[in-house]
Amino acid sequence: MLTRSALIYLSRKEGLKEFAARFSLFKKLTTRFIAGETIEEAVAAIREINARGCSASFDHLNESVGTAAETEAEVQEYQNVLAQIDQTSINSNVSIKLTQFGLEIDPELAYQNARRVVLDAVQRGNFVRIDMEGSNVTQATIDIFKRLRSEFGLNDVGIVLQSYLYRTEEDARELLKIPARIRLCKGAYDEAPAVAYPDKKDVDDNYVRVMQLLLASGTYHGIATHDPKMIEATIEFAQREGIKKTAFEFQMLYGIRRDLQEQLARDGYGMRVYVPYGKHWYPYFMRRLAERPANIWFVMKNFLKG
Ligand SMILES: Cc1cc2nc3c(=O)[nH]c(=O)nc-3n(C[C@H](O)[C@H](O)[C@H](O)COP(=O)(O)OP(=O)(O)OC[C@H]3O[C@@H](n4cnc5c(N)ncnc54)[C@H](O)[C@@H]3O)c2cc1C
Repeated sequence: MLTRSALIYLSRKEGLKEFAARFSLFKKLTTRFIAGETIEEAVAAIREINARGCSASFDHLNESVGTAAETEAEVQEYQNVLAQIDQTSINSNVSIKLTQFGLEIDPELAYQNARRVVLDAVQRGNFVRIDMEGSNVTQATIDIFKRLRSEFGLNDVGIVLQSYLYRTEEDARELLKIPARIRLCKGAYDEAPAVAYPDKKDVDDNYVRVMQLLLASGTYHGIATHDPKMIEATIEFAQREGIKKTAFEFQMLYGIRRDLQEQLARDGYGMRVYVPYGKHWYPYFMRRLAERPANIWFVMKNFLKG
C-alpha cells in the first residue's frame, strides 16, 4: 500500500508525469481535480462554479520553477488570467506560489515577480492569495508577504497558514496584528515531526484553535477544508460568538465535496473553489491522491479495468 509520504515523494518526480500521461486513462482521471490545461478551460469551469453560487480562485499549476525566464512566463500567465477575469466578468481572484515566481532561485526575484502580479490585481480591483508551500520556505514566504502587505492594502494580498505546523498559531497571532487576510488549511506537504504535528488529531485541534483566532479577529479570512468536523466547528463558533456568515468564507478544492460546496453556498456562506489548471498538473494531482487512500484505489481500479 502506497503511503502518504511515498505519494508525496513521487509527486516531486516530475519525470514520472511523462510516463503517467502516456495513459489516456490517467489523464482522464486528472480531470476530476484539474480544470484543464488552458485559461479558457479554467474560465469555463469557473463559469459553472459561479452558476452554483460559489466564487473561485485561479491557480496556474507550476512550482519550484528553475529559471528566471520561466518565472517571467508565470507572471505573464497571471497577468493574462487577471485580464480574462475582467473581460469575462467571472467571480474569481488568483492564488500564486512563490516558488513559481523564483523563490528557490532568488527571493528578491520572487518578491519582484509577485509584486507585479499584485500591482496588476490592485489596478483591476482584484485580490492575490499567496499559497503556502513546504516548511523550508515558510519563513521566506511570510517575509515576502509582509513586504507586499506593507506596500498594498488588506484587500489586495493575503497569505495561507497550515495547521499542521507547530509555528502556525504564533504566525497567526503576528499576522493578525498587521492585520492580514489568512486562508487556513491543514497543510499538504510531507513534514518532519520536528516541525509539524504527526497526528491528525493534533492537526485538527490546532486547526480549530487557529480558526477561532481568525474568526474572532474581525478580518475576512478563508476557512479552507473539506472536513465536515472543521466546518461544523467553524459554524458553531461563529454562531456562538455572533459572527456573521458574511464575515468569512469557506474554501474547497475543485472536484472535492461538490455536494458540500453547494450546501454551504445554499446555506448563505461564502464558498470559494480553488481552480487549478495548466500543463504542470502532476505534483498537485499526486498530493490530492496522497490525501485520501480511496482516491488511489479509484485510480488503480480504473487502471486495471483499462
Ligand atoms: C482552497 C484550498 C486551498 C489550499 N491551499 C493550500 C496551500 O496553500 N498550502 C497547503 O499546504 N495546502 C493547501 N490546501 C490543501 C490542504 O492543506 C489539505 O491538504 C487538504 O485540504 C485536505 O485537508 P482537509 O482539510 O480537507 O481535511 P482532511 O482531514 O484531509 O480530509 C477531510 C475529508 O475531506 C475529504 N477530502 C479531503 N481531501 C480529499 C481528496 N484529495 N479527495 C477526496 N476527498 C478529500 C474526505 O472526505 C476527507 O475525509 C488547500 C486546500 C484548500 C481547500
